[in-house]
Amino acid sequence: MNIFSPNLFRQQFPLIESHDQSLIEKDDFMPSLIYFDNAATTQKPRQVIDCQQDYYRNFNANVHRASHQLSSKATFAFEKARSLVQGFIGAKSVKEIIWTKGATESINIVVQSLARNTLLPGDEIVLCVSEHHANIVPWQIVAEQTGAVIKVIPITEHGYIDIDEIENIISDKTKYVACAHISNVLGRINPIEQVIAKAKAVGAISVIDGTQAVAHFSVNVQSLDCDFYVFSAHKMYGPTGIGVLYGKKKHLESMPPYQGGGEMIKTVSFTQATTFNSLPFKFEAGTPNIAGVIAFAESINFLSPLLTDVSNSYGLFEKKLVNYCYQALANIAQVKFIVGGSPDIGVIAFTLTGHHNHDIAMSLDTHGIAIRSGHHCAMPLMTHLKIDGCLRVSLAAYNTVAEIDYFIDCLKNILLEGTIEQTNKQVKEEVLLELSAKEMVDIITLFSRTKGWDSRHREIMLLGKKLPRLDKALRDENTLISGCESLAWIKAEHSVQGLYSFTADSDAKIIRGLLVIVLAAFNNQTAQQIHQFDINDYFEKLGLMQHLSPSRGNGVLAIVEQIKIMAK
Ligand code: PMP
Repeated sequence: MNIFSPNLFRQQFPLIESHDQSLIEKDDFMPSLIYFDNAATTQKPRQVIDCQQDYYRNFNANVHRASHQLSSKATFAFEKARSLVQGFIGAKSVKEIIWTKGATESINIVVQSLARNTLLPGDEIVLCVSEHHANIVPWQIVAEQTGAVIKVIPITEHGYIDIDEIENIISDKTKYVACAHISNVLGRINPIEQVIAKAKAVGAISVIDGTQAVAHFSVNVQSLDCDFYVFSAHKMYGPTGIGVLYGKKKHLESMPPYQGGGEMIKTVSFTQATTFNSLPFKFEAGTPNIAGVIAFAESINFLSPLLTDVSNSYGLFEKKLVNYCYQALANIAQVKFIVGGSPDIGVIAFTLTGHHNHDIAMSLDTHGIAIRSGHHCAMPLMTHLKIDGCLRVSLAAYNTVAEIDYFIDCLKNILLEGTIEQTNKQVKEEVLLELSAKEMVDIITLFSRTKGWDSRHREIMLLGKKLPRLDKALRDENTLISGCESLAWIKAEHSVQGLYSFTADSDAKIIRGLLVIVLAAFNNQTAQQIHQFDINDYFEKLGLMQHLSPSRGNGVLAIVEQIKIMAK
């Protein structure tokens, strides 16, 4: 019997269900949300949300410390969650399960607590080129601290770790091998068994980043025989801010604590050496994320039966969705997948010839479709593939074939609009040259007439068309805005009256539009006015705050920062 039913599964996610509901009420064919950003974080099922609330409502107390019933109840649930995770990944002992904030913190613990104390100058750390920054930067930091050297395994043309290359790269000098079970951009199940075996053969420690794997199939750390395995709850229908460091007991026991504080000690004294608690508590200083742990257990209760079900109906449905979406994308002429072949899990990365990734993602957003564009925290992979970013569709089992159809239709329409635009470009450019960014608009009045993200997005795109192009010769590293994911350039001029005027350009249409909006606020202002200007308030007035809040890091902040640096 199949224990997975796509409809029933979908209905368990309140955020998605509420959008489905509004769709029925509006009698409208346009869905208000299609969430295709599951590799970033999954939505949460009702039972996980309820479980977290239940803790706060009914048994909120600190764990391990107090001798009262409430604390006992919280401690019981908290430690039961640990046993559940132990079973979920097949760890030998509950002591091998350390709670962390997430995969990032788990990796940092291994790096700073173990690698930093064992690496010697010239020792080698082996990573794969497709790693997430969370599995690169901590190693770069420790390499700097110890004099160790990082070696990189390439990927095959289909996006898998290149096993043939590991023979040349993993050697007697290798002390750590850290790689992802599945890359968050490529969606391929890496042959980590072979990587782990090779690491073992040379006496190196293996650290596996399982963040993108654990929601899709059962993992058994004992069969894998890896030294460490890390993951985050929020990518497996659980809460944010909680994750796991699995480590073999012998390693965890040899490691000094990562942080000091309450809970991780046995005795503390000013006259004698402080002694530390046993595993796993040695690594859990301070009050932990109790609600997160308890709700995480509920997400495992939710997911585990689906992963272990003999019919594999959940896995097969995920596979059906990814194949369908991959094929539909493959039928679009402009789509270029970043590596060959279809992915193993619902993570599909591609670019669109002649279009900027951000423009496509923002346009899809106006249709309620959430996909991701950019470097996906894998800049070395982008460099390796000679791209500056890509689009990523990442699916979960609550997604549907109908959603994929709608996404493909929208994408085709966006591409078609782009083609019509190209044809008319010549005519338009002549008209546009008459408009300067300064004269153009009272931006606030313009936006006050618009309603909804869809029409505001259209206005931004129209404004972008009015921005005069910056001379190609001026688009260089001196004018490049660093921190903006798209390429964007800005140049300042300073008049004798002390007023600044800026000219700017970008390769992304949406950024060109945003530049017009930003420049309208800063052009012909003094340095003092520029520094005092409240950009958040401005975006609030424009009704763009939730879409373009500078803190979202979509490049606006980088542009504003750059302007402030130039206006001295
Ligand atoms: N590794 C991979 C493969 C990931 O996809 C992510 C999250 N995008 C991380 C590590 C980091 O996870 P977290 O931000 O939850 O610590």
